[in-house]
Amino acid sequence: HVKARGKDSYRFYSESMSIDSTHRLLLERDLRIALEKKELRVFYQPQVCARTDQIVGLEALVRWQHPERGLLYPRDFLSLAEETKLIGLLSEQVLDQACRDVGQWIRAGHKDLRLAVNLSPIEVEHPRFVETLIERVNANRFPPANLEIEITENVIMNDLEQISQKLRELANIGVRIAIDDFGTGYSSLNYLHRLPIHTLKVDQSFVKAIRSGVDDACIVNAIVAMAHGLKLEIVAEGVETEKQLDYLRALGCHQVQGFFYGPAQPAAEISKLLTHPKTEMAATASS
Ligand code: C2E
Ligand code: MG
Ligand code: MG
Ligand code: MG
Repeated sequence: HVKARGKDSYRFYSESMSIDSTHRLLLERDLRIALEKKELRVFYQPQVCARTDQIVGLEALVRWQHPERGLLYPRDFLSLAEETKLIGLLSEQVLDQACRDVGQWIRAGHKDLRLAVNLSPIEVEHPRFVETLIERVNANRFPPANLEIEITENVIMNDLEQISQKLRELANIGVRIAIDDFGTGYSSLNYLHRLPIHTLKVDQSFVKAIRSGVDDACIVNAIVAMAHGLKLEIVAEGVETEKQLDYLRALGCHQVQGFFYGPAQPAAEISKLLTHPKTEMAATASS
């Protein structure tokens, strides 16, 4: 009896494994096609000044409008793109599209508008990373000083010397560097004053902890205090409630980003937000 059950569960396991790998193969095929046809979309999430409520930056977040599966999110295909080395192509398309969209808004008069892009460790570790990035930015005539790249702490810890060199080259042409999901990686704090870092993005998990009790928010308090001391800009991610916003504002957090102000949206929606900021923001925040 036990043996039979063991056999069944083995079979179940191996079947589900092969379903998984079939699914993966299909998705990989589809992703190649989507990249060929340039079907990936870039959505933008506003980064809002905590003091003035104005949009000061836009984070580019990739989406994939799949013909049968509907709108897919990074969690559905990003690791696949990394494992299959398609991430370079994906990233190039995201950067091109984002530079075109945001470049247009900058030229239309939002001259300090910042574009924040996410980079995977694999891309940053690529030997031609800096050249490729500069190439895309120049090809789209995007002002490097309006660009911020978001990397995670783990990237830095992998190879401090290499990364330091690369970040310096980028910082020298005006590109800003942000540490994404700050506080969640395995890292020392030592790099913070050894690298040209401009911004810390407080991870959502710490923002979620801002509820009622004083203790819940102690990590946010500490990160913001440290950022102030190091003269780094601080962006809080995942701000969903007015309570969190008020708390972060009082703490001296410079920018906020989250569903309270609105999710990532297509360029057409962002255009409207930039032209009619007050009404649109209020409508988004209350919906
Ligand atoms: P991230 O850079 O930390 O981005 C924040 C994620 O939180 C985004 O998810 C965003 O839509 C979501 N978010 C924003 N505000 C809120 C909120 O108030 N509450 C909650 N619960 N979530 C919120 P998304 O777009 O699914 O992206 C997930 C991750 O995928 C990103 O995390 C980033 O690491 C990665 N990613 C996204 N686009 C790209 C890309 O073009 N290239 C690369 N390499 N990575 C990307
Ligand atoms: Mg990010
Ligand atoms: Mg993050
Ligand atoms: Mg992240």
